[in-house]
Amino acid sequence: MKFQVRYGIVLFLILLCAGGVVFYLASSGEDIPALGDKTEDNGVVTEEKPEEILPFICPFDGIRLKEMPFRPVAVTIDNLTAARPQSGLRAADLIYEIPAEGGITRFLALYFHGQADKIGPIRSARPYFVRLAQEWHGVYIHAGESPQAQIYFKNEDVDHINEMFNPQGFWRDKTRKAPHNLYSSSENLWQETVKRGWDEKVDITGFSFLSEGEVLKGEEADQVIINYPFEQVVFKKDSLSGQYQRFLGNKPHIDKETGEQLTAANIIVQETKVRVLDNEGRLEIELAGEGRAWLFSGGKAVEGRWIKNGEERTQYIDADGNEFCLKPGQTWIEIVSKSNKVEY
Ligand SMILES: [Zn+2]
Repeated sequence: MKFQVRYGIVLFLILLCAGGVVFYLASSGEDIPALGDKTEDNGVVTEEKPEEILPFICPFDGIRLKEMPFRPVAVTIDNLTAARPQSGLRAADLIYEIPAEGGITRFLALYFHGQADKIGPIRSARPYFVRLAQEWHGVYIHAGESPQAQIYFKNEDVDHINEMFNPQGFWRDKTRKAPHNLYSSSENLWQETVKRGWDEKVDITGFSFLSEGEVLKGEEADQVIINYPFEQVVFKKDSLSGQYQRFLGNKPHIDKETGEQLTAANIIVQETKVRVLDNEGRLEIELAGEGRAWLFSGGKAVEGRWIKNGEERTQYIDADGNEFCLKPGQTWIEIVSKSNKVEY
């Protein structure tokens, strides 16, 4: 029976492309080549090409790139229950989670080589979001602003697009309630950037990355729990991928567009001073100076510090003063106050 099947396949292959196949079978003894050795796409058989080494490294996630993008866009993303699940977070190069009013967090998602067809819901500006976008020379994207952010924009020279006055390139998703329904895409945001002449090539000093196969040395940390006032954010290491999977309480936090759970290759926790500014509960978050920081990567934890002097980007360093070495992939920077307990 086995012989008959094999014989049938051989005959079929001979008929298909006589010369080469006959030669191959003759030279490879009784082994019959499996069709899966080549990739078949719509019936077209293509040979696997050896992987070429791409010349550039993304400063945010350490991923090798064919071309270096010009400039990141940094988008303010809503995290209220009505805004979930969000769109496009999985495609971001770097994500910050930062407290906003009422103990609820918001995200600042940076897109550099990462591309998403739908990003949002997009929300309003806070000065500390703008400062983080500026650290990376990003074009800052928002819809409206707090009074404090208004003052900040007046005093500082910031490349930013406010949807309230510039609705081109944004759209409302009618299946969701405002203000949790404003979206854009990487393509649209870049088009708007180019229109304003902000598409200059910026020089970004990126993170340091572990080389392939290298693992972080540190304490065991298969799980990281961040106790924000509104809810608990949990990252659990997936033993197969080595990535941390993100949960809100015990529910997986997913991306609306792909249906996939959000993951992190690295989690950096940055502890700083948070102060309530006004009756609306708006916050002042200290991003200059220094404080405690932790890196979680591949199931290990390292404690260190964050330091920011002037215009330079924030440095995250270990006890020996060396910069945190990240695993290539998406990093989440979790900004917490001293009262937001972090457990691992
Ligand atoms: Zn990247």
